Amino acid sequence: MNGQPITAGQLRDLLESLDALCPGGLQAPAGGSLGISLVDPATGALRATVTRAELGRLARRGCPAHPNNDPNSDCGCPVLDRPAPTDAYRPTAAQQRFLPTRDRTCRHPGCATRAGWADLDHVLPHAEGGPTTCENLCCLCRRHHRLKTFAPGWRFEMTADGVLSVTTPSGVTRTTRPPGMAALHRNTTGPPPTGSPPTSPTGPTADESEPAPF
Ligand SMILES: [Zn+2]
Ligand SMILES: [Zn+2]
Repeated sequence: MNGQPITAGQLRDLLESLDALCPGGLQAPAGGSLGISLVDPATGALRATVTRAELGRLARRGCPAHPNNDPNSDCGCPVLDRPAPTDAYRPTAAQQRFLPTRDRTCRHPGCATRAGWADLDHVLPHAEGGPTTCENLCCLCRRHHRLKTFAPGWRFEMTADGVLSVTTPSGVTRTTRPPGMAALHRNTTGPPPTGSPPTSPTGPTADESEPAPF
């Protein structure tokens, strides 16, 4: 997705509406922090997660490329987006906050395991050149992470927005979207697959690929 940029002017507007909703300012629960999710209104895709403090900082700072701009004009430059990529294998703290918010649950079709219990998986494996980016990471529970890693013949593809397509060895594809996007587009191809995927007699975790996949 290449949605509209999130600009400093929009953040100021957002801040104003938040303060209008909660006069005196939003208060985080004791001992916690208040997370704010910015969602693309056209697609429902999660664009960014910030705390109230970060939002205030970004709105005050304005556009770093145009520091001398009239604070009430908006140059339109993006000041906030999905967390930046890292060269490391391990996702950054910002990615670890963003992705469970985007995915909510394990992204394997039909699995409802909470994202808090899930692993962040490189959809295109890191060993095969898959980058550590929000566009290439999704939440998978341990069981489905193993299925993906070890069961032969499964294909996983994801768009930048986090729309994940899983294709079984027999060629049946199911698509899952992050929850915010689910209502906007509904697109499953074909009926749920029947039968078990082929198991690998030599695979160390052949038993993991035994149960009905979806
Ligand atoms: Zn600018
Ligand atoms: Zn799962």
